[in-house]
Amino acid sequence: MMKGQVLEPATGGVLAEVPWATAADVDDAVRRAALAQREWSRADPAHRAEVMIAIAEAVRAEAEELARLEARNVGMPIADARGAMAGVASTFRYYSATPERLLGSTIPVSGGLDMTFHEPFGVVGLITPWNYPLSIATWKVAPALAAGNGVVLKPSELTPLTALELQRIVVEAGLPEGLFNVVVGPGDPVGQMLVDHPDIRKVGFTGSTAVGRTIARQAGDRLKRVTLELGGKSAALVFADADLQAAAAGLAGGVFGNSGQDCCARSRVFVERPAMEEFLAYVKETTAAMRVGDPLDENTQMGPLISQRQRERVASYVSQAPVLFEGSAPDGPGFWYPPTVLHPVDDDHPAARDEIFGPVVCVLPFDSEDEAVRRANDTSYGLAGSIWSHDGARALRIARAMEAGALAVNSYSSVRVNTPFGGFKDSGLGRELGPDAPLAYTELKNVFVKT
Ligand code: NDP
Repeated sequence: MMKGQVLEPATGGVLAEVPWATAADVDDAVRRAALAQREWSRADPAHRAEVMIAIAEAVRAEAEELARLEARNVGMPIADARGAMAGVASTFRYYSATPERLLGSTIPVSGGLDMTFHEPFGVVGLITPWNYPLSIATWKVAPALAAGNGVVLKPSELTPLTALELQRIVVEAGLPEGLFNVVVGPGDPVGQMLVDHPDIRKVGFTGSTAVGRTIARQAGDRLKRVTLELGGKSAALVFADADLQAAAAGLAGGVFGNSGQDCCARSRVFVERPAMEEFLAYVKETTAAMRVGDPLDENTQMGPLISQRQRERVASYVSQAPVLFEGSAPDGPGFWYPPTVLHPVDDDHPAARDEIFGPVVCVLPFDSEDEAVRRANDTSYGLAGSIWSHDGARALRIARAMEAGALAVNSYSSVRVNTPFGGFKDSGLGRELGPDAPLAYTELKNVFVKT
């Protein structure tokens, strides 16, 4: 049996060894999920709601251990990991409403009665990345289970540990054995097996745009349903009338958060030219004040990158670009990289166009509202964005004009369990979270009854 080593990015040492799933293991997981799903989809909706609540409570009870594990495996600061685990519990709680409220409709027709049902797919396959492992998995797992499906989840091979804990927790909380399965291993072949499996009817994926395209292509051959949450190169537009200090201070979370390994990172910050000097002074303060270090230290704001490979990728972008200033980072061992500000940068520079997925922000001047919107939209991505201004009408006008799925005014926030999340253009297909997420894990059925 092949085993994968799971590393601790803050030290570069081995945190765990996890067996990789074989094709037979994947088959077995799908079969078990299909078997359990038949019972689950017919169980009393009130019972299914109770189980979802019990999972939320069980996650809450183990939140500290889960947060520490996530912090060590991802390199995420413990304070952020605690927030992430609270979010995981909230997500299960929020979708506990689904089993009893997945309502169909009746439609006036002639000659009979007509009604609709939201039917679960059966077994769905979920494939997730390493940056927020349990959070992103839960955004899919909770609505999929709540809508009556069985689930096979393939987490990133770099960060499978909290998903494996969740597999134990859900059964202890009362979810039928076999309904939720975790299979570990590389995207190719283990993720591929889920995409190809004839009994998996829907794939929910979060990851890079390149892999998302491959999955969509392969799923298309089988007309398999997909939801894709992909990369981003999101913009923040900072106007001269904004609270410049707040806009700059927010970059600690808005682009350096999780070491910039955040699909919503506002890594292009467009600043109205008269405000540039003052804004940069605040950005310098924010960057210098970032506390980069041990993820388990309560005061840490930024940990290491996920891997040596990721560090090399970030360094190669920065080596080609004009660095205005950078913060500090430990020397090593571990995969450290300092928060870094690039300025001036051309919009066409690779650092300003590509998703770097590191703590690197490009600051770019603009002269007019139209120009700012045009340049913000001049990207193949369209995930998130921010508008910083005290002119409410302008902020709303720009929010409507920006080609992105998750926008915020005077804030860098992107994700809430009860609001929809997802991307325009190359940033994805479909939406997660919010009240409609369970619908993405169902097929709509219409039934006519002759009377
Ligand atoms: P990848 O696309 O490389 O991987 C994502 C997942 O897909 C992993 O589990 C990976 O497995 C698996 N995978 C890789 N190749 C295949 C394949 N051919 N078939 C099936 N599965 C496959 O992304 P990363 O893990 O590197 O995550 C970073 C990317 O994710 C960034 O681009 C980021 O923007 C994006 N992202 C998007 C988010 C969003 O909501 N829009 C949120 C978070 C991240 P393994 O890695 O184990 O080989």
